[in-house]
Amino acid sequence: MEIMIIGSGSSGNCTLIKSNDSCVLIDAGFSCKQIVERLDGFGIKPSQLDGILVTHEHSDHIKGLRVLANKYDIPVYANMDTAEALRYKNHAPEHFNLFMSGQKFIVGDFEVNPFPVPHDAADATAYSLTCNGKKASFVTDLGLAGRMIVHHVKNSDFMLIESNYDYKTLQEINRPWSIKQRIASRIGHLANEDAMKLMVEAVGENTQKVVFGHISRDSNSIEKVQSAVNLTLEENSLHGRFDVEIAVQNTPLGPFKI
Ligand SMILES: [Zn+2]
Ligand SMILES: [Zn+2]
Repeated sequence: MEIMIIGSGSSGNCTLIKSNDSCVLIDAGFSCKQIVERLDGFGIKPSQLDGILVTHEHSDHIKGLRVLANKYDIPVYANMDTAEALRYKNHAPEHFNLFMSGQKFIVGDFEVNPFPVPHDAADATAYSLTCNGKKASFVTDLGLAGRMIVHHVKNSDFMLIESNYDYKTLQEINRPWSIKQRIASRIGHLANEDAMKLMVEAVGENTQKVVFGHISRDSNSIEKVQSAVNLTLEENSLHGRFDVEIAVQNTPLGPFKI
């Protein structure tokens, strides 16, 4: 399996997962043109995509979805409430392949495990994909990483974990109190310290790579995430056990082979 982070952050999210014969995207949160250009940087044509897995209907995850799916005739996978929310927002593609969160399904070479996450969307979903005995998990946009989430992500070979905000910086920035409350709530986003806790609980002997993403522009920084990573690896004697990287908004990252 190869994983390429097309981009990750509060203004756009898109990840490519590739096997020998299959390619899927998780989310399409950039314009169709941008996604096609960034895929081209990895030598991938949109016609190669076997499907787009949608996490939820927020614009940073679906901005280019309708155009990309309709233009290149790519199957879109979403649960029923997310599909309904996309129709309501006029962002729905012509067709959906509906699934139930918690029920696995197959796309190309991949077994896809969609599991629910607490977030202020209709029915937000995270995904684990397995192929040839390898597992990659993608967990962004969640307010709380409880035991069921750790269970689904546990011992993945690869994991992308949201590390959205630094709690102190969020309190200090000039944004309305209601928005700060929303971000920090149980259905908002993961703080750096929660993301580090999820990493410590989920990594196992198979884990090769952990990527932190969906980093807020104004209430976090690469440096803050990096220092939280360093401290956590040190405190838990995890140095050298796996690689850690930080994904950013405007520069694709990867490919990571597992
Ligand atoms: Zn998001
Ligand atoms: Zn969201």
